[in-house]
Amino acid sequence: EDSPYSVSNEDPVVPLPRSTDRRWSDTSVYARKKVLQFWVQLPCGNWELGKVLSTSGEESVVKLPEGNVLKVMSETLVPANPDILDGVDDLMQLSYLNEPAVLYNLEYRYNQDMIYTKAGPVLVAVNPFKEVPLYGNSNIEAYRKRSNESPHVYAIADTAIREMIRDEVNQSIIIRYVFEYSGESGAGKTETAKIAMQYLAALGGGSGIEYEILKTNPILEAFGNAKTLRNDNSSRFGKLIEIHFSETGKISGAKSRVVQCAKGERSYHIFYQLCAGASPRLREKLNLTSAEEYKYLQQSNCYSINGVDDAERFQAVTEALDIVHVSKEDQESVFAMLAAVLWLGNVSFTVIDNENHVEPEEDESESLHSLDTDGLSTVAKLIGCNINELKLALSNRNMKVRNDTIIQKLTLSQAIDARDALAKSIYACLFDWLVEQINKSLAVGKRRTGRSISILDIYGFESFDKNSFEQFCINYANERLQQHFNRHLFKLEQEEYIQDGIDWTRVDFEDNQNCLSLFEKKPLGLLSLLDEESTFPNGTDLTLANKLKEHLSANSCFRGDRGKTFTVSHYAGEVTYETTGFLEKNRDLLHSDSIKLLSSCSCHLPQAFASSMLIHSEKPVVGPLYKAGGADSQRLSVATKFKDQLFQLMQRLGNTTPHFIRCIKPNNVQSPGLYEQGLVLQQLRCCGVLEVSIAAKDPLSVSVAILHQFNILPEMYQVGYTKLFFRTGQIGVLEDTRNRTL
Ligand code: ADP
Ligand code: MG
Repeated sequence: EDSPYSVSNEDPVVPLPRSTDRRWSDTSVYARKKVLQFWVQLPCGNWELGKVLSTSGEESVVKLPEGNVLKVMSETLVPANPDILDGVDDLMQLSYLNEPAVLYNLEYRYNQDMIYTKAGPVLVAVNPFKEVPLYGNSNIEAYRKRSNESPHVYAIADTAIREMIRDEVNQSIIIRYVFEYSGESGAGKTETAKIAMQYLAALGGGSGIEYEILKTNPILEAFGNAKTLRNDNSSRFGKLIEIHFSETGKISGAKSRVVQCAKGERSYHIFYQLCAGASPRLREKLNLTSAEEYKYLQQSNCYSINGVDDAERFQAVTEALDIVHVSKEDQESVFAMLAAVLWLGNVSFTVIDNENHVEPEEDESESLHSLDTDGLSTVAKLIGCNINELKLALSNRNMKVRNDTIIQKLTLSQAIDARDALAKSIYACLFDWLVEQINKSLAVGKRRTGRSISILDIYGFESFDKNSFEQFCINYANERLQQHFNRHLFKLEQEEYIQDGIDWTRVDFEDNQNCLSLFEKKPLGLLSLLDEESTFPNGTDLTLANKLKEHLSANSCFRGDRGKTFTVSHYAGEVTYETTGFLEKNRDLLHSDSIKLLSSCSCHLPQAFASSMLIHSEKPVVGPLYKAGGADSQRLSVATKFKDQLFQLMQRLGNTTPHFIRCIKPNNVQSPGLYEQGLVLQQLRCCGVLEVSIAAKDPLSVSVAILHQFNILPEMYQVGYTKLFFRTGQIGVLEDTRNRTL
């Protein structure tokens, strides 16, 4: 009303309800047949173009393309754009910016392999799930010369470089998908990030380091990606890669920051690659067998990916490791850790029946269980520890009770947990260690005079049938990113308002600060309360849930549900969490005995892992620390660590000019050429692309569209710099129309 482009402050998930905008159901528009075609929604939900044959005010008769004739309520008809606007580059060029129009435009382009479309300041990328002829050197060259101006990741990267140089400000390219119903999107974020990197490397190349930077991709993907149901190459971590440029515009270095909270992925590519591609010498050294022999890999029950040769990939990864200067010795240590993880999975436990007392193990009088020594000796050899110490670490726990240390025997399931926790920790530390090595290799020298462009490839909101601690962390991160996005767009909008002399202080701005406060407030926020409850030895999932309900119910984004569940109103929608496992996951399962074991190893990697796990105790830290089960050293909670990583990331992003890319998945079956309207619409609605298009449309176009809507002919007015000048009588016509439609 006040302004055609004020941002809706209604339900944030639903965009401005353009399709039900009353102005569009003004029957006089139909009567005069100024709008030639309309969108008609079929019972299945899809939209079809229809022509109005006749209208009796309330009802209209429309003809669909195949000739079917339909009687519909006039007010459900949504005006369609003239054919001349089919497939425009930028959604903002559409005269009618409604949902079916946006859907149709994206589909029109998609069918011609034009997968990129602008939505005002945002680039929308629809995953083609096939090779499209849009990349490579000749295309890079065309965008560099600006002889090709159609929307593209290259164009975004090009703008980023130019603005970095022109404004002397760091830039960022933020690639996101919004709602990953399955948590494993396959929307195209990682591919898009690589395409952007290719462009930057091509333009900033010359020093040779650009080649190294590109080679970090296969390494991080091998160790951080896994095949999942929906994506053969699903990233299990979020990544921000900063690419630094020297004053002369050449790439001078890079640094990757990873954010990770998902744990227990056991099907990372590198395991299969190692099993398939290790040389006979390495196989023997690591006592390696085939992937099928390892319990951890059996769980996925899938040992190969269509069109992927794991042995070949293994060669590529080792070459990439050479290129980023990971020495051959270190590479072997890395592979030894991988083999150790695999063999740990094969360590099994058996409960010893006291009646048929088998050989008593060691000096133990009544062992509850013993360990199969098959995998055990290999693990001990690979990590360089004493086999008996390994056994003890997996079967006993040292507890400090007041001033005494008592030894508690683990139950079977506790022992299995201890084993899996050790395997997961070794893998997680290995990943972090590799990122660190790569960063060292690509580090910019001390003379950091240049600027940087960061590319963010991070998971979107997640909502499953059951949502746990991992979703809790991921959705919190997305809430932060969403705020970053909203604030940036609002700033852009403010500038536009100011330019046009409009009082922007009255314009609403959709903020999710309330939801963020729910997470971050101290001491009464989700994270603080979670950490607090985690320090209580008697805290349980239920006491946590009750505590949250007791303290947070006043926040409108929070709802306590029955039992162990609670619901958060996120920007992208409501998510219900189950507190089951929250405390344990937040405390981090790895026990001090296992850390001690690692630090006692003769190999350097396990030692490094052990000290990295305890490093926090030497630094001043914020947030609660946990005594790792009787150890003298302490560790941070997982949620606090995650928050710290996130804050660092946001700090980096905060000082950059952002460029946004939204990836859209047109179907859930990774299939080329299949465009499911409903699925696409869901994504557009969640991610605010529709609002962006509508909000960012320039005031002049909005005004002209409105005049067109109300049949004010172009000869009836003139456009000034900031005002429209009407012929006599026209304002009256507009006023009449307003009275009639309001
Ligand atoms: P995400 O990171 O969002 O989970 P990915 O980037 O891994 O998704 O993409 C999933 C798959 O989709 C890729 O493995 C690739 O097969 C396909 N894909 C994505 N973007 C493109 C593209 N621009 N061209 C061709 N295929 C693509
Ligand atoms: Mg990915």
